[in-house]
Amino acid sequence: MKRPILPGSTGPDGRPATLGVMGGGQLGRMFVQAAQAMGYFTAVLDADPTSPAGLIAHYHIDTGYLDEQGLAQLMQRCAAITTEFENVPAPALRTLGAHRPVAPDADAVAVCQHRAAEKAQFRRAGIPCAPHAAIETDADLAAADPALLPGILKTATLGYDGKGQVAVESPAALAEAWAALGRVPCVLERRLPLAAEISVVVARDAGGTVVHFPVQRNLHRAGILAVTEVPARGIDEATQQRALQAARAVAESMAYVGVLCVEFFVLDDGSLVANEMAPRPHNSGHYTIDACDLSQFDLQVRTTAGLPLVAPRLHSPAVMLNLLGDLWFDAAGAERTPPWPRVLALPGVHLHLYGKASPRRGRKMGHLTVTAPEAGQARAVALEAAALLGLPPF
Ligand code: ADP
Ligand code: MG
Repeated sequence: MKRPILPGSTGPDGRPATLGVMGGGQLGRMFVQAAQAMGYFTAVLDADPTSPAGLIAHYHIDTGYLDEQGLAQLMQRCAAITTEFENVPAPALRTLGAHRPVAPDADAVAVCQHRAAEKAQFRRAGIPCAPHAAIETDADLAAADPALLPGILKTATLGYDGKGQVAVESPAALAEAWAALGRVPCVLERRLPLAAEISVVVARDAGGTVVHFPVQRNLHRAGILAVTEVPARGIDEATQQRALQAARAVAESMAYVGVLCVEFFVLDDGSLVANEMAPRPHNSGHYTIDACDLSQFDLQVRTTAGLPLVAPRLHSPAVMLNLLGDLWFDAAGAERTPPWPRVLALPGVHLHLYGKASPRRGRKMGHLTVTAPEAGQARAVALEAAALLGLPPF
């Protein structure tokens, strides 16, 4: 259980010290890249034999998250373990945590896995969230406060990218929506008038040091993040400070160790409401790779290995565009390659592809970050890139 796990050190088998990650998606891939840059070996546990992170890790254990042999192998390989996916079952992290340093720990991940628990945590930390009620039984349904309508019914667990959500206007629609979601535990939230969406990525170490990236402004399309802009265009300084304070407060309230992202709504009246949080680096923090001196994945490596945290610095304004599988299809529905040479001819474009073999509509295939000396320039180039790719302006 010894930390720090020093870069360049070797394990008992004489091989470089290995950091492990539960989950093999693009976030795991970027963690692996950051860990490898510091000389660590890496291990990924993910059942998919072609997972983006597994493809580039030194070791890929292709079992399910709860497979005892898989977990044993991961522990045998790794000096410390992190997670890239909030739906890794908490019991798997608990098993690992009994034998190895695991950051974030099972309890923190469990809170983020359940929308009601997450909102309760925000409240404990003194952070407002949307008016809501748990819908778990017919009695809850019958008792649902009409003041929560029009609302959004969200599954309490396993939702992402707007999946597991239904907009509801009336009590009858609420009953139908709950049936359509399979009567699983849900949270009904009042639909709020959003002026903007922002998020904050923080990292906290075991000694209680908290550092943060700047506030990001996010645009979602059809429930999926489409664009992140930093500095957060049009968000006043006082609101940004409140968001930073709130993100720090919630990390402290959980004695959280690792990288945490908190999403917020800025409402039409200027008030700030926490939406949800992710116990890991976040899509809205991908720009940190190219626009900051330390990325969210660098900080994940540090919190996993038990190395010092220092405040990251934004060195360039940036705009990030998500690249969904839709871009790999032309208007007639035939597969195509996006026009990379034209996009890469623009100044300050950093292209990241995740190594996913088959594009599907709505699937996150990659992202690109535009950096520039000045925010207006980053935005102008990002708009050009978007136009070349066939993405709507923002
Ligand atoms: P996911 O886990 O899919 O990201 P979110 O709860 O963040 O789920 O919802 C996805 C998006 O839906 C949000 O980014 C926001 O644009 C919109 N949304 C969610 N909840 C509300 C709400 N209460 N009022 C208005 N818009 C909402
Ligand atoms: Mg969200």
